[in-house]
Order: sequence, then C-alpha cells, then structure tokens
Amino acid sequence: MSLRRPMLFSTSTLCFLTLALHSPLRTQAQTSILGFTPSSAAHETEIENKFKSIPSPDEERRQHHIFTAEPHVAGSARNNELARYIADQWRTEGLEDVVIRRYDVYGSNPKSTFLEMTAPVHYRAILRELPVPGDPDMKNKSISSAWSGMSASGEVTAPLVYAHSGNPEDYDFLRKQGIDVKGKVVLVRYSNPYSYRGFKALTAEREGAAAILIYSDPAEDGFKKGKVVPSGPWGPEYHIQRGAITYDFMVPGDPLTPGWASVPGAKRIPVEEAVSIPKIMALPLSWHDAKPLLANMDGPVAPDDWQGGLPIKYHLGGNRVRVHVKIEMDNSTQPYYVVEGRIRGAQLPDEWIVLGNHRDAWVFGGVDPSSGTASMMELTRALGKLAKAGTRPRRTIVVCSWDGEEVGLTGSTEWGEQFADELRHKAVAYINVDEATSGPNFHGQAVASLAPMLVETSRSLKDPSGKTLYEAWRESATRERREAKQPEPVTDLNLADTRIGSGSDHTVFLNFVGMPVLGLGFEGPYGVYHSAYDDFFWMNHFGDPGYHYHTLTSQLWGVLALRLANADLLPFDFATYATNIRQFVNELAKDKNKEKGLDKEKLGQDKTGEARQLPPLDLKPVLDAIDDFEAAGKRLDESAARALSSGTIDPILAKTINRGTMQIERKWLNPDGIPGRPWFKHILYGARYTYAHLELPGLAEAVEKQDWLTAKQQAEILRQALISNTKLVNDLNSNLIVDTPAGK
Ligand SMILES: [Zn+2]
Repeated sequence: MSLRRPMLFSTSTLCFLTLALHSPLRTQAQTSILGFTPSSAAHETEIENKFKSIPSPDEERRQHHIFTAEPHVAGSARNNELARYIADQWRTEGLEDVVIRRYDVYGSNPKSTFLEMTAPVHYRAILRELPVPGDPDMKNKSISSAWSGMSASGEVTAPLVYAHSGNPEDYDFLRKQGIDVKGKVVLVRYSNPYSYRGFKALTAEREGAAAILIYSDPAEDGFKKGKVVPSGPWGPEYHIQRGAITYDFMVPGDPLTPGWASVPGAKRIPVEEAVSIPKIMALPLSWHDAKPLLANMDGPVAPDDWQGGLPIKYHLGGNRVRVHVKIEMDNSTQPYYVVEGRIRGAQLPDEWIVLGNHRDAWVFGGVDPSSGTASMMELTRALGKLAKAGTRPRRTIVVCSWDGEEVGLTGSTEWGEQFADELRHKAVAYINVDEATSGPNFHGQAVASLAPMLVETSRSLKDPSGKTLYEAWRESATRERREAKQPEPVTDLNLADTRIGSGSDHTVFLNFVGMPVLGLGFEGPYGVYHSAYDDFFWMNHFGDPGYHYHTLTSQLWGVLALRLANADLLPFDFATYATNIRQFVNELAKDKNKEKGLDKEKLGQDKTGEARQLPPLDLKPVLDAIDDFEAAGKRLDESAARALSSGTIDPILAKTINRGTMQIERKWLNPDGIPGRPWFKHILYGARYTYAHLELPGLAEAVEKQDWLTAKQQAEILRQALISNTKLVNDLNSNLIVDTPAGK
C-alpha cells in the first residue's frame, strides 16, 4: 500500500526561515554535514562515496525480477519462500542476527467471490484481468481474481445504487434525492475525491448497505489519463485495484491483538470485539465489469461531478438493476513472517536506525512493494560489503522485511508492538520505503525535526537526469504545485512533506512507539496500482526501465541511514519542529474561524499574523509554549554547531546529548492515545479515517466537533508536552555549554 493520492503534491507550508537565517548547520560544503564535526564529515563523505558506488541498476533489475516472478500475497507459500530467500541473502551478505519472526494473525483469504447482474439483463462479472500482448506474466495461472482483504462473507441479491466516491456527503446527496441504500448494494468509484477504501466500506456499513462494489473509473487511472497498458502506464479495461478494507484507522495490525504482538500463543480478543474488522461484503471491480451495471441503471441522472470517464450517462440507480453478490472468505489463523537483520554498530550498538519495506504484494507487486524490496536488497548488499571490508557504522542499522502490510500494516505493527519498550529506549529513527519507484518525481516525507537533514542529504546524491537529487526534487515539486494550483512557492525549507498520515509501515513507529520517521519514494504516472498489471513488464516499460531510480533509492536510503548511524550529534532540529507545530496550531484556528465566519481582525494575532484564538478555546498558552520550545531548539542548534565546529566532542557528553534528543519524539506520545483511538498515541501526527494526514489529531477532531471540553484537555496535553520537551532541550543545552570549551 502507501497512501494513494491524486497526482498532486500534498501541501507542506513550512516556514523554516528562522532556521535558515540563524543556523550555521545549514552550510552545504562536502566537509559540512549536519551533526558531524569537520573531520568526521570528511570521513563520512568517504564512507558514503564507497557506499554509493555499490548499488547497480543491473542488480536492482535482477532482484526486482526475483521478487516479481510470482504473485506473493501475505500468507502465501511464495511470500514465505521470499522471506527465507531474504534471510539467506542477508546472511551471505554479512548481516548479523538474521531472524524470521512469526506472528499468528487473523487471516483473510478468498475462498470464492461471485457477482452477477440478475435484472434487467443477466451479466456475470468476470472478476479477472486478461493478458495483454508482450507481457508473459499476465498469463500466470496463479493471478487471483477480484477480492478485498477483510471483506465479510455472505450472500445478497438486492438493487444497486451508484454512490459516487462513497464518502458521507455522497450518501447525504442520495438521501436528498429520496434514495436510501439500506439493504442495497452500493457501487462506488475509487477516487474523486480520494478516500481509503476502508473508509468507503465503513461509510457504506454505517449507511446500512448490504455490500459495496468499488470500481476503477477510467477518469481516475485509465484511458482518460493517457495510454493504457501495454502501450502506456495507465490502467487497461480489465485492471482491478485489489486492496484491504480493514478499519486500521481505528487500530492497525492483527485485529485480535490490538496493542500487543500476536506471537504464537498470545492472548486474543473475540472476533466480535475487534473494531478493525468490517462487517460488510466488499468487492473491487474493473471498469469492464462495472460498465454493464452503470449502463443499465435508472433513476435520476447523476450530477456532473459524479459522471466518470465511460461513454455513458451515469444514473443514481436504486430500482432497475439488481445484483447478486456472494463472497466466501477463509478467516482461519495464519502465520505472517517478518525478516529482521542488522549491521551491529561498532561504537554504539544499542542505538538503532531501523529501515523497513513490506514484502507482500496484491499480485506481482511491480511497484508496490517490489521496487522497494529490490532497493532494500541492494542497500543491504552495499552495507554488508562495507562491513566485511571493516567499515562498520557507529550505531546499529536494523533492516526489516515486513509481511501483511497490505492487509492492515500487520507485520510492522506486530513487530513494533513486540519490541516497543526496547525501541523506545534504543531507536533513533525509522526510514520507510514502500513503493520505491513508479516514475522520476521524488517525494520525501519526514517529521519536521529531520526535514533539514533529508533536504541536505538530497544535495549529495545524483539524479539520473544529471542534476543533483536536490535540484530534481525542487523542479518536480515546483511543477506539481503549479499543476495543483498551490500558490506557495517551493523553497529549500518546505521541500520535505512534514504532514504524515497513515497508509504504510511507518505508522506503528510514529504513532505507537514515538519514533521520528522518514519516507522515501519516486512517483510518476501509475494506473495499475494493486492490479496484476503492476509487474516486471510495467516497470521495464514505464516505471523505471533503466532501474536508475531503484539504484538512487538504495543510495539515498543508505546515506540517510549512515548519517544517522555515524553522526557525532544526532541531526535533529527542534527549532524547525517548533515552527512546524506553530503552523499546525495556526491552521487549526484559521480553518475553524473560516468555518464559523469569524473575522480574524477581531481575534488575537500572533507574530505570523494568524488568528490566535478559537472562541471559546484559548490557544495562546499553547502558542507561548511553542515559542519557548522554538527558543530552546535554537539555542541547542547553536550550541551543537559551536561544539561540532570546535572539532571534537567528548564521547560521554555526545552520548548524553544524543540519548536525550532521542527521547523528544517519545514525549509527544500521550499514553491514553487520541480520544476514541487509544492505540494512536502521537499528539502531533495522526490520520483521518480516509487516511489523509491529520495534524494535532486529538485537538483537531475535538475542534471540528466543537467539543470544547475535550479540545481544552487536548490543548493542555499538547502544552504540557511542549513544556516537558522544552525543559529537556534546555537541560541538554546547559550540558553542552558547560562541557564544551568553545561554549565558554
Ligand atoms: Zn505498499
């Protein structure tokens, strides 16, 4: 998986101005790297150059071919075989402590799926993807038919209603037209606007529908976008977007072990109590199978923005078309396997940089996830080669191949839950790569404290275009913002996307463990997501024919890991973090005031000119606490820069500082979680049920509901976390000042 957004850039309107002006850490010469003394930066550059020279396009392609050779859905024999293959490779490459961890989880596999139209004419849906000329893999007999992970089992024959994108406002509109979906089957399209299919399923379930059919409209990822497979990257007539409908926005992972690991023998809750298991039947459709249904519907003509790309008039339906849906799922317990390996740190083995990619794919997983898996294999080969030659990172680099990501972020969640205490003690950061490559446009995500180091690192890598990755990133970001009509210009300081929702394996590390996270991927036109056409052929013709972006992913992923592993002082920037949090708070006030028609002039203003108050919620104490955190962050940046430029840092002192800064992210966790979703503990980052990012989730949701009591409590929790982190940063800073001669 990985968040499917329409092809536009998600806004990140960071203002890093203060940082850019004050911080000497931002100089970009080769011997200056955030967090390194000049001599260790020079040494680091040598290591990185050696590392970057190892990954090769030919090896990326060879690995990609191995992983995409057969369908390898979670729980399948092939996916388990690939787990053993990875473990064997890692041992050969020189990784240490390679283990395969087993989790016994609630299974969700199709026994049979069936759909027919029984009136006004008979049509039996083929639920299959037909071969295309030139792609031998599409003839593979083990390609699954259409199915949705975590669908309920059942059988119904009922009228069909077209409910557009299946979001709550779509049902409101149907109600106004006198159309009730209770007991009926709803047909919805995937996007426009985008929402996670599990949210569509939950919405249909709440509306009382008997089943939901989700189809890919050609307006979204098919011929209306451009040439389709085999002539272009967009989805052909028969492509089916499989996917899970798990309510993992409530709690991800195995639904029967919410908050603890489903190791063999673990306690399990009854299925009826599992909030992430849907109670509705769901089935994904190609437009080939949806077209006869849409073409036969009666009822009012659907509004203009509900019309799709097929050459027919879309109607709302509700009477004439009747469909018969039958789904039988196998929910027996099954094992998922996480492969874990590491390069032990030479000096600080108990400080961990964790890297991960999921292995399971809906079918072949050309882009999702095998492009990332191939990049991971080249990354581990390069790290292993360095280690064998005696170049070992100072800190430990842990690498994991996750399982069952596509079902509910399951493998990473269970692993994160199993090792949460150890991770909270030892982990520096988590770097996720899900879909490494569907095209040339880089998208980098980071919690704001790591955004500057991500941007800095992009300057030291070469894009296949010949520019630096940094230049290529800025250009594609500028283009994407222009296309999305986002007025804010791209700057060095807002390149990285700091709005982190859910939808991939970083979730447990950020939202449950409290680790800083980064996410990397190159994107392009990609209309075959979660279909069988997402395969080796697609990658070699459209996504990354030369495997240069795969190679660049391995290089970038590894260099980021090495910088975090080798830094003298971990390159966290808390002044930037504060600026980011201030923006989140101001947006909350702005949106709310806009919604309530409140005049900004009458409200208090802070220094960025934004509204300060949300009657009846006073955010000034929070904004004051942010100011304090920012000031503390700036002082620490300055002391760190001074200490680093002095040339040496006492290792004991460095350890104290680093151990302290590693705890900042943990302190954004509220042990009680956000209201209604106790598993999600981070108070700055969360996701909506649609998977869209949601900043300050507990506070934002309370404000939206105008639940001022809860909002007040959530604002106070945020303020206390800010105060506590300000104190920690100040304490660390006073250590640095006292102990560094240059600071006297
Ligand atoms: Zn994925």
